[in-house]
Amino acid sequence: MERTLVLCKPDAVQRGLVGQILTRFEQKGLKLVGMKLRQFPKELLEQHYSDHKERPFFPSLVGFMGSGPVVAMALEGIDAIAVVRGLMGKTNAREAAPGTIRGDLGMSFSNNLVHGSDSAESAAKELALFFPGADELVDWTPCTLEWSYSVG
Ligand code: UDP
Ligand code: MG
Repeated sequence: MERTLVLCKPDAVQRGLVGQILTRFEQKGLKLVGMKLRQFPKELLEQHYSDHKERPFFPSLVGFMGSGPVVAMALEGIDAIAVVRGLMGKTNAREAAPGTIRGDLGMSFSNNLVHGSDSAESAAKELALFFPGADELVDWTPCTLEWSYSVG
């Protein structure tokens, strides 16, 4: 099992798409193990996107992510990191495939609705950043587990 961080970005919250986005992850079979809504401080967002700090879009990205509330989620499942990235679609929503979150719901490169961790290392860093408290992530067993995942 893997855990990954998903953010519903400010455009998703403003457009009332959080429920639809969460539904896609739930229906796929990913387990929600943590969730919060916050307007996150600039310093945290700069740390979150620190890999991009030399890129020209970094200031506008951090500004956008701090411009309104964000819903942060921790999702768990087999290969959760890659599964979430697949459901999100390509970064530029105009190029994202139909059927993906960005492909179905967005038209922007920057305001592309969702973030998902891109590796095990990023997931560990990002989950610790957005869910620092020891009790913020919950271990539980969905009654559908055996039906959602085949054995092996
Ligand atoms: N972004 C942007 N312009 C670019 C590249 C990225 O505004 O040219 C924004 C976009 O919101 C993207 C985020 O920066 O989601 C992080 O970029 P990354 O390449 O990590 O894309 P992601 O992992 O989100 O698909
Ligand atoms: Mg990324």
